[in-house]
Amino acid sequence: MIITVATSAGFCFGVKRAIKIALATVEKSGNVEMLGDIVHNEQVVQNIEAAGILKVDALESGTGKILLIRSHGAPESVYQEARRLGYRIVDATCPMVKEIHTIVRERYAQGFSIIIIGDKDHDEVQGILGQIGYDALVIENADAVPLGAVQTMDRAAVVVQSTQALANVQAILAVLERHIPEVVFSNTICRATRERQAEMEILPLENDVVLVIGSKTSANTKRLYELAHAANARSYLIQTRDDIKPQWFEGVQCVAVTAGASTPDDTIQEVIAALKSL
Ligand code: SF4
Repeated sequence: MIITVATSAGFCFGVKRAIKIALATVEKSGNVEMLGDIVHNEQVVQNIEAAGILKVDALESGTGKILLIRSHGAPESVYQEARRLGYRIVDATCPMVKEIHTIVRERYAQGFSIIIIGDKDHDEVQGILGQIGYDALVIENADAVPLGAVQTMDRAAVVVQSTQALANVQAILAVLERHIPEVVFSNTICRATRERQAEMEILPLENDVVLVIGSKTSANTKRLYELAHAANARSYLIQTRDDIKPQWFEGVQCVAVTAGASTPDDTIQEVIAALKSL
């Protein structure tokens, strides 16, 4: 069986950077807290906790403590609250996400209505909303465009959660452009996501089976799986090697492996080793 591993599989630049910053900070200063999980992956979260970084649900007294901002970024109110409580802030927001923050702030100041294409409850989207006092519309898919609200807009600036699929974005954009006289679109899907998704347009067609490795809580992993499955019904989403079922590979000659942006390399290597042992 030939195993092809996507070149883009695994940690993206932003996640690698955030984990590096987190570990370096706790090693140097100790007493690091984080609001929520560093990334949507159980193994990574365990490693981060084992390093001594504390996940908290709310900020309390921050004297002598560091608040680590995760790669998804955070609303402006979190920074303000942390400073007020005496935290020192170490910001591991991905530079690509920061760029989205800058765009929405500028466009908002110029008087544009802001539209974010993304998952309403995702931390990254909440972080973007929190740059402009939550005064924006979030749209998840073309069927969910609130026509009443968009028809009142004269000019809108549209940004995209960094891990969205381009086809979904284009479908939403087409609806918006029919109803809003001026639409300024910034394609803020990040490069890591574009590369990953481009590979998922080809590999499922060239292989009998596709394995997508990542947490079921990871939005970008799920999206990757949806792309793979649309092109090849024998695509499977697995979290670890333990989820592999030998019957998936009966008569299979070639298998493609990819992984979400928050999937550690160890997990990918374990899956490859398990495939080889089949
Ligand atoms: S998926 Fe893209 S935007 Fe998000 S952390 Fe990774 S590189 Fe940054």
